[in-house]
Amino acid sequence: MNRFQKVVVLFALSMFLVFVPLGRDEVKAWNPIAHWQIAAKAAQDLGLDGDFPDYANVPDYWPSDIGFYQINPFFCWSHAVIDRNNGASPGRISPLYPDDGRYPEFDMWYLAKYKMKTAFTSEMQKTILGYACHNAADRIVHWTYFTGGLPGEGPIDTYLAWRTGHADKETWADYVVFQQIVVPVGWPVWNPDGTPVLQMVINCKADPSILQLAQKIYVKNGRKCNSNGTGTITAENNATITGHVSTFNTQWANPAVRSLNRDTWGGYQLEAIAQGWTQSACLVKYNTSVTLAESWINSVRSLAK
Ligand SMILES: [Zn+2]
Repeated sequence: MNRFQKVVVLFALSMFLVFVPLGRDEVKAWNPIAHWQIAAKAAQDLGLDGDFPDYANVPDYWPSDIGFYQINPFFCWSHAVIDRNNGASPGRISPLYPDDGRYPEFDMWYLAKYKMKTAFTSEMQKTILGYACHNAADRIVHWTYFTGGLPGEGPIDTYLAWRTGHADKETWADYVVFQQIVVPVGWPVWNPDGTPVLQMVINCKADPSILQLAQKIYVKNGRKCNSNGTGTITAENNATITGHVSTFNTQWANPAVRSLNRDTWGGYQLEAIAQGWTQSACLVKYNTSVTLAESWINSVRSLAK
């Protein structure tokens, strides 16, 4: 080991000691590039429309937090989770997955297919299936792993826990998926200045009316977004939902990989690997995410009357 390698190992060990209290070692997460690519694979395998990946990030059109420290009730709706901090600040406490049938994609599909009938457009279908694809992939990496802060911790601790245990790993996962899956084998990944050679564009699309229906179903079913049984959402109008879509679109389009850079890769790599989110672990989870996403898409599509 040369001197640089020793420093790297020591740094990795110190990150491990600093950031891995019990139970925080398995947190993993996906960002838009990974979600897009998982949907691209599903589209290829299942024969869906070529623009299906544009619908892969729908649940993330609602930011996970309000301001800095509070979990967004709309994020609870879109990701089928419950805020165990009951809407209080500081938030960024890891949410609960109640697994009580609150994923709206099945209800949306059923209502759309059997009530709307001919008004059920392909745009709506892709929105619902993209939603299922996203939440299936998230389930693989979040379900038992999602770790933000812990109840009782202060704002700085919860912020750091969320950041290192979650947000930075999403960025790292995008790097891995971009370098290993998106860029074809044998192609160069980076330009000499560290920017990506391949300019990947992520468009974000959705049919707002079907999402509004999903919000209405959530409210009608009496879903609460807090663990103490309080708090819900108020269904948004089409214009508001369209606003979320275009905000997300501006953040990620032209090109989505603009923020990726060879020179910032190393920092995320050290932090992620120190917490068990190695490249091989990431690629294993990528494959299981594709498998579950395809299975959820098929289950939704085959839903009978
Ligand atoms: Zn998500």
